[in-house]
Amino acid sequence: MTEDSRAEARSEGLDFIRAIVAEDLATGKHASIVTRFPPEPNGYLHLGHAKAICLDFGLAREIPNSRCHLRFDDTNPATEETEYVDGIMNDVRWLGFDWKKHLYYASDYFEQLYEWAVALIRMGKAFVDDQTPDEIRANQGSLTEPGRESPFRGRSVEENLDLFARMRAGEFPEESRVLRAKIDMAASVVAMRDPILYRIQHKAHHRTGTTWCIYPMYDFAHPLSDAIEHVTHSLCTLEFLDHRPLYDWLIEQLPVPSRPRQIEFARLNVTHTITSKRFLKRLVDEGFVTGWDDPRMPTIAAMRRRGYPARALREFCDAIGIAKRDNLIELANLEFHVRQALNQEALRRMAVLDPIKLVIENYPEGQEESLDAINNPEDPGAGTRKVPFSREIWIEREDFMEDPPKKFFRLSPGKEVRLRYAYFVTCQSVVKNAEGEIVELRCTYDPATRGGDAPDGRKVKGTLHWVSARHAVAAEVRLYGTLFKDEVPDPHAPGGLGAALDPDSLRVVERAWLEPALAEAAPGERFQFERLGYFCADPDGRPDRPVFNRTATLRDTWAKVAKQGGAE
Ligand code: ATP
Ligand code: MG
Repeated sequence: MTEDSRAEARSEGLDFIRAIVAEDLATGKHASIVTRFPPEPNGYLHLGHAKAICLDFGLAREIPNSRCHLRFDDTNPATEETEYVDGIMNDVRWLGFDWKKHLYYASDYFEQLYEWAVALIRMGKAFVDDQTPDEIRANQGSLTEPGRESPFRGRSVEENLDLFARMRAGEFPEESRVLRAKIDMAASVVAMRDPILYRIQHKAHHRTGTTWCIYPMYDFAHPLSDAIEHVTHSLCTLEFLDHRPLYDWLIEQLPVPSRPRQIEFARLNVTHTITSKRFLKRLVDEGFVTGWDDPRMPTIAAMRRRGYPARALREFCDAIGIAKRDNLIELANLEFHVRQALNQEALRRMAVLDPIKLVIENYPEGQEESLDAINNPEDPGAGTRKVPFSREIWIEREDFMEDPPKKFFRLSPGKEVRLRYAYFVTCQSVVKNAEGEIVELRCTYDPATRGGDAPDGRKVKGTLHWVSARHAVAAEVRLYGTLFKDEVPDPHAPGGLGAALDPDSLRVVERAWLEPALAEAAPGERFQFERLGYFCADPDGRPDRPVFNRTATLRDTWAKVAKQGGAE
C-alpha cells in the first residue's frame, strides 16, 4: 500500500482491513470481494464469532457485487454435529446476515482435497509418516530448536502413493500413519515443519457418513477451500498468523483456481467472559449451566434468550472496531449497547420483584379502575395501555423506609409520593408481624391526583412503580450476574472450571408480581420494567406462570460495583 492511499484510508476512518480492501479495489487488483465466515460446527457461536461475522459479512455488504460465504469447516468428524450446523445458521441469520445461496461445507471438497494431496505426493512434497503422534510431537522441536526429520521422510513417491491410497481404503488403524507435507524441519515457523495434512479417523462424518476414514487437517483444508470458492480476503484471528506461511505455501504449490489472501485481526476478548467453544462446551457437558443457551453464557443463542437485541451486538462490534493486537473489552461496553438499543425499542411495563403490600384505607373496597400508562416515552408511536388499579397494591420493599435518611425521597411514614400514572398516596402507618417485620403499609390517597398530578400544583419528590394486587400475575424472574468471578477468567485454575464461576451469577425471584398485560408476552419479547431494568420473556414460561430474564439493569451498576472491588 502506498503512503498516499494509506493516509487516505486513515482519513476515511477505515480500519486496517477495510483500508487493504479499499486499496485492492483502487489498484484494480479486485473489482469486488469475496469473504467467508468459516465456523467449525463443534459448538454454538459466541460473542467472538459475532465480531468475525460482522466483519466478514459486513465488509462484503459494503462493497458492490461482493459476497460472504458461510462455510462449515467440518473436517473433524469426532466433534462435529448437525445440531451445531443448524444452530450456527440460525445465529448468523438472527444477527442479521445472509449468505444467500453461498452455503458451503469443507466436506464437499474432500475428493478435490484428496486429489491435491496426491498431487503433492507426486511432486515429492508430501509423504506418509509412520511415526506415532507422540514421536511426531517430540521431533517437532521448539521455537529455539529445529525439528528432527522423520525416518520415513525419504520414502519414494510410489510407496507414498500406495500407502496414502491404502490409508484411504481403511487398511490402517487410527494414529498408525499420517500424511505430512515435506517442507523444512528447520523452518523457524513451526507450522512449516512438515505439517500433518491428513490423519486416519474411523469415524462417521455428519455429512459424508462412512465414505471417508482419512480427514484433512484444518491447515490443509482451509486455504484450499478458500481458493476453490474464489475468496479474495480470508479474514481470521491472530492465532493463525504463524500458519500464514503454510497457507501461502499450499496455494503456491497447487493448481488452485484463485489466490486468496489471509489477513489476521485480533480476537475479541471480553472481561468476565470466555470465548472458546471448548470451554463453553465443558460448561454445558459438566452441568455448570443449563445448556448452550443458558442466558449467562456468552453464546449468541444465550444472549438472544437473555434479551440482547441483534442490533446491540452489531453496534457493539462496530464500535470496538478491528485491531491488529489483542485487547480486552469491558463487558460494560456490550451492556451499554444493549441498554441503548432497548431504551429505544422496549415497551415499558410495571412489575414488582420484592413486594410489600400497600393498602389504601380511603379507597373504596371492591372498587377498581383502569388508568392510562405510556408504553414508551422514547417512541410516541407506541401509544398507551390501561393498567388496573385497586385498593391493595404491591410496591417494591426497598421503596419504603420506616426511618429514612434525609435524602430518601420514596415512601416513609407521613410522606407523600406518586404512584406512577395513578395517585398521590401518603403513608399513615405500618403493620408488623410478631417478629417485628413490616408486612403492610397503610396509606391514604388523594382522589384529586388521578393520573399522577395534583391540581393544586403540589409536588412530590418520589414516584414509585406498583402493581394492583388483585390483578397482578405471579411470575418467576431470573436475575443474572457475570458467569465468571474474575475479570480474566482462568479455566485452568486449581479447582477446575467450577471454581472460576461466580456462585451469584443466577438469582431466582420465585414470586414477582407483574401487571396483567405481561401474562401474554411471547417468548423473546422484551420490556423495560419501570425503574428495574430490561427483561425478556423466557421460553420456560407458561401462560399461568410467565418467566422473565433480566437482560440488563437500567444503569451500569456492574461497572460501579467492579470499581469498588466487591460483589453486589
Ligand atoms: P473456539 O476456539 O471458540 O472454538 P474457533 O476460532 O476455533 O473458536 P471457529 O469455529 O473455528 O472457532 O471460528 C470461526 C471463525 O470465527 C474463525 O475465523 C475465527 O477466527 C473467528 N473467531 C473465533 N473466535 C473469535 C474471537 N474471540 N474473536 C473474533 N473472531 C473469532
Ligand atoms: Mg478454530
